[in-house]
Formats: sequence, C-alpha cells, structure tokens
Amino acid sequence: MADKTIKIAYLYEDLMNTYGDSGDVKVIRYLLAKQGYQTEVDNISLDDSFDAKNYDFLFFGGGQDFEQTVVAKDLPRHKETIENYIKAGNPMLCICGGYQLMGDYYKTNSGITIKGLGILPLHTIFKADKRMIGDTRYMTEWGEVKAFENHSGQTYFDNTNMLHPFGEMIEGYGNNPQDKVEGLRYKNFIGSYSHGPLLRNTNVANAIVKMILERRKERTANEVESV
Ligand code: GLN
Repeated sequence: MADKTIKIAYLYEDLMNTYGDSGDVKVIRYLLAKQGYQTEVDNISLDDSFDAKNYDFLFFGGGQDFEQTVVAKDLPRHKETIENYIKAGNPMLCICGGYQLMGDYYKTNSGITIKGLGILPLHTIFKADKRMIGDTRYMTEWGEVKAFENHSGQTYFDNTNMLHPFGEMIEGYGNNPQDKVEGLRYKNFIGSYSHGPLLRNTNVANAIVKMILERRKERTANEVESV
C-alpha cells in the first residue's frame, strides 16, 4: 500500500453498466491522475475471486433485471468481504441496480424476487403504475446534482436510524415516488439512482476522491504501526 497506485474494483463491469455508469470510474481515475496517483481497475466478474480489503474503492453500476438475476447468484460469495469493507468506512459507490442489490431484495415487475446481499437495511419493489424515468435534480451535502434516472424498482429504507438519503429531490423521483429523497449515504458508502454518469457532477466526484485518499492515508498509517 505504500506506493501511489490506487486500486479500484469494478464489480461485474461486463454485466452492470447501464447508461454510461462506467464513466463514474473514468472520472475518479482522471481526478486521481491529476493529483499524481496511478490507478489500477480490476473487473470482478462471475466466478472471479475477490477480496475487498485489497482495494481503495469499489464501484457497482446499474443493470437490467435479467443481468441483476445473473449477478445476484454469484454475489453472495462476496458478502462478508464487502460488508466488512463498507462497515469499516471504506468508500464504495453503487448505482441503480447495484444499489438495489446491496439491500435485502428487489421484487421485479415480472413477480420474481431477486435476493440482495442484505448488507444495508432497505428493500426495492415494483409497483404497477410507475417507471421512474427522466432528468433528476437534488441537493446533497456537497451541493446540487443533475443526473438521469431510469428504473422500475422503488427503494424504501427499513432502518432510518442507520440509513440517510444521499440527496433531497428538487426534480424527478429518486428512491421512490413518495419519500422525495435520492439514494443512500452510510459512512463512506453512496447508493444512487443517478446515471449520466453521476460523477460528471464534479462536486460529488471530488468528495469521493477525498474519501479515497483519506482512507488510504489512515490504512497506510495503521499498516506502518502494526509492522
Ligand atoms: N433493473 C432495475 C430497475 O429497473 C435497475 C435499473 C438500472 O440499473 N438502470 O429498477
């Protein structure tokens, strides 16, 4: 960890990458490069071995229901390592389908229930009347975000003491049509319905880069202490 290479894991890049989500990883790499950091991105796909603690940043993009069912079968192998990573305060960004799979389940419009990792107390359901599609605008702790959403799942938090929204809606739906909030913030985990990609909003991208570099510094300090 002592060198300047930042390691990024892109979970299921070949299956979970709707509406330009891979652009989020490109923006993070670009901003880190500007600060003199090299980045290495591993695409973790079906059957690959993976240990989250070897990474400085995890990214999980959006996907169609079919791809989500495929990914959901492979994903439970990684539950422990991802859960420990998130709960230790390491940075992770999940978009749309990836965000849904971090919760308990996603009940789709074809009536199937896709089991999520159950790391974060939330669930997602389809309700007959609505597909949430269009431009979104919302206010986060880092300022306003403009993006695009396209999902049929409606996400609800099951533990509002633990989970906090990522933003307050100005335009569009976000998590669901009732709550007027977008996404989730838990420690250094961000879940969001925003495509476009989300990180063309450089206020959020810079905040994530800061999290990555701060966590890297803390982890390097701990490693030196324990030698
Ligand atoms: N398939 C999910 C839904 O429709 C997620 C869509 C996405 O990731 N864009 O709700």
